[in-house]
Amino acid sequence: MDSTSRSSVIIIGAGVSGISAGKILAENGIEDILILEASDRIGGRVRNEKFGGVSVELGAGWIAGVGGKESNPVWELASKSGLRTCFSDYTNARYNIYDRSGKIIPSGVAADSYKKAVESAIANLKNLEATNSNIGEVIKAATELPSSPKTPLELAIDFILHDFEMAEVEPISTYVDFGEREFLVADERGYAHLLYKMAEEFLSTSDGKILDNRLKLNKVVRELQHSRNGVTVKTEDGCVYEANYVILSASIGVLQSDLISFKPPLPKWKTEAIEKCDVMVYTKIFLKFPCKFWPCSPEKEFFIYAHERRGYYTFWQHMENAYPGSNILVVTLTNGESKRVEAQPDEETLKEAMEVLQDMFGPDIPNATDILVPRWWNNRFQRGSYSNYPIISDNQLVNSIRAPVGGIFFTGEHTSERFNGYVHGGYLAGIDTGKAVVEKIRKDNERNNSETQNFLLEPLLALTLTQTEAMSSLHKCDIPKQLYLSGKLGIPEAIL
Ligand SMILES: Cc1cc2nc3c(=O)[nH]c(=O)nc-3n(C[C@H](O)[C@H](O)[C@H](O)COP(=O)(O)OP(=O)(O)OC[C@H]3O[C@@H](n4cnc5c(N)ncnc54)[C@H](O)[C@@H]3O)c2cc1C
Repeated sequence: MDSTSRSSVIIIGAGVSGISAGKILAENGIEDILILEASDRIGGRVRNEKFGGVSVELGAGWIAGVGGKESNPVWELASKSGLRTCFSDYTNARYNIYDRSGKIIPSGVAADSYKKAVESAIANLKNLEATNSNIGEVIKAATELPSSPKTPLELAIDFILHDFEMAEVEPISTYVDFGEREFLVADERGYAHLLYKMAEEFLSTSDGKILDNRLKLNKVVRELQHSRNGVTVKTEDGCVYEANYVILSASIGVLQSDLISFKPPLPKWKTEAIEKCDVMVYTKIFLKFPCKFWPCSPEKEFFIYAHERRGYYTFWQHMENAYPGSNILVVTLTNGESKRVEAQPDEETLKEAMEVLQDMFGPDIPNATDILVPRWWNNRFQRGSYSNYPIISDNQLVNSIRAPVGGIFFTGEHTSERFNGYVHGGYLAGIDTGKAVVEKIRKDNERNNSETQNFLLEPLLALTLTQTEAMSSLHKCDIPKQLYLSGKLGIPEAIL
């Protein structure tokens, strides 16, 4: 067990927001920090693993929002590090929709259905806005509301629109500000290489490893005790750490769980805000095959399966653009389907995925030789993939989630008003929180200095000088010296 040590700041979590916050602290001369990370590596939801001979991204895969009027800072980091990426063009996906008999739905039919789905989503959005305004608008919007999707094609398009392409319907800052292009990270060093490069700027490293003992891995924080004197942090292995401030970067899912307890408990306005934010579960399942049996041209990269159950193995991607010859397919599930699949053995998931592929490509396709099913929902250090704020919500909700409580500052993608849910959201949130803590420390120092000044000046001035004289001619260190020289204090008292 570590003996209790005190730092200026403890950062909980070494995902992108924790690392960017640490970098800001270091740049501002705050070096006595400690980073406590629950898992065995840095990166959090940016995580790659070797699968089928290549590096696949289990969490964030794309740098989303590139080519717009503002530059995406994560794209800048990627360019600086020479991270290998490839452009993803989803637009063809909607004309690559397979029905259960393996036929591709004619593009005109798919386009019509897509147009209707967009109109329906816009009407829904108006309806929601109206609910927040006046009753007349509500009635008008309700009468214009189209029926909900029913056929496999409608359900598949609804899934694509709402789980992948919300930018088409409601303005999302990522695409409006940073641009509409998305690039898939396809680099053997992984997306996490960007985090390592950031960490390298303020933590000591060697041979690609972080050796700095200010980063402690496998430290699961279970309790935060906060008071005017600072924050006491207790970890699952019985260690106790103390700090003036804590930056807590655990995900919204973790905040909603009971992994970390707060003493005293968080105020009601805080816990209510945390509960109101939805958690999205998004799962990429990787399948390795002995050979390819799907169309491999670049414009066939994304394809869709239309099934009567919404979200049932709907969205597929081949990895030939990213890693030619890898023979890997990825299928994405969300929310209920993700949770269902997380709860069952991988063999069952493999069987289901193979049946779907046989529907699309016929019964003679080879079996997958390997499967990888990440479990973001059941991971107690994540409890989901990313935050999802209600479509119509004011910025009060995110402000409450972000607001500090005592010496605990909250950061992470879920605290980013413009970019929640994205890597750049986490990155920018960490920078903002780092700066807020630097500012707080600066103010504390100023206050402490002036208190020390007053503490020294006031009683002594009463003994010896008038206030005006003190202000006009003396530095605070001169007063003990004068008292000593005048024989009113001995050496020890004068120095203290
Ligand atoms: C499957 C998936 C796909 C995604 N796709 C994309 C994408 O394509 N593009 C994109 O931009 N974004 C994507 N995202 C979102 C993106 O990954 C996140 O927004 C971002 O990485 C969040 O960073 P963070 O620092 O806020 O949180 P995290 O990365 O979660 O960091 C928090 C850290 O805190 C640690 N922690 C938690 N609890 C404790 C505790 N009690 N004690 C100590 N440590 C603790 C965790 O282990 C973690 O390392 C995706 C996410 C997932 C899961």
